[in-house]
Amino acid sequence: MQFAEAAKQIVEAGRWLDARSWAPATSGNYSIRLDADRIAITASGRHKGRLIPDDVLVVDYDGGTSDARAPSAETPLHTLMYRLIPSLGAVLHIHSVHSTVLGMVLSGKTELELEGYELLKALPGIATHEARVSLPIFENTQNMAALARSVTERWKAGQTGQTGPSVGYLIRGHGLYTWGSTMEEAMRAVEALEFLFACELERRRMPP
Ligand SMILES: [Zn+2]
Repeated sequence: MQFAEAAKQIVEAGRWLDARSWAPATSGNYSIRLDADRIAITASGRHKGRLIPDDVLVVDYDGGTSDARAPSAETPLHTLMYRLIPSLGAVLHIHSVHSTVLGMVLSGKTELELEGYELLKALPGIATHEARVSLPIFENTQNMAALARSVTERWKAGQTGQTGPSVGYLIRGHGLYTWGSTMEEAMRAVEALEFLFACELERRRMPP
C-alpha cells in the first residue's frame, strides 16, 4: 500500500476510535503494512482524534526509522504481529474502559474465553456462534521488548488455545491489541470485541 493511502486510513481510524472513547488522552497506536520491509505507524504522543497524515511515520520491521520523530513506544508489538502473520494488513491497539478493566477482573487468568455469542461471527473466519475464541492475557509492563517476547513465545507455542483464528490479546489493566487483513477488518474486530467485552463484564455483574 502507498504511504498516503495508509496515512489516510490511520487518520480516519483515529477519528472513529476516539469518537467511541477508545483513545483517551493520546493513548493507543495504529499501523498498516506498506510492503515487505516497512509499516506506517502513528507517531508517539499524538491525540488520536485529531491526527493528520503528518502524524504517521514509516518504520522497518526492527522499528528503525530515518524520521526525526519517535514512533509509538509500542512499535515492537506491531512489527512482531506483521512478522508472525504474513497475511496481516493492519494492527490496532486501544485503551478502552472494557479492555482495560476486563483483564483486571480476570485477575490471575492468562486467557479470556468467548463462547456462545452470535457476534463472534463478526470476527474473521468465524461462521457460527458455536465457535470458541480465546484471547491471551499478558501482564502489563513498560518493557516492550519483554512483552513482545512473551507474545511471540505464546504464539509459537500454540498456547493461544483458539479453535478459530487468532484475533487479538489483552494486556491486563492496559488495553487490547487486535488486527486484520485490512484496516477495515481490524476496525470491525475492535468493534466486535468491545461489544463482547461489555457482555462479559455485564455477566459478571449479575448474580450466578
Ligand atoms: Zn498501550
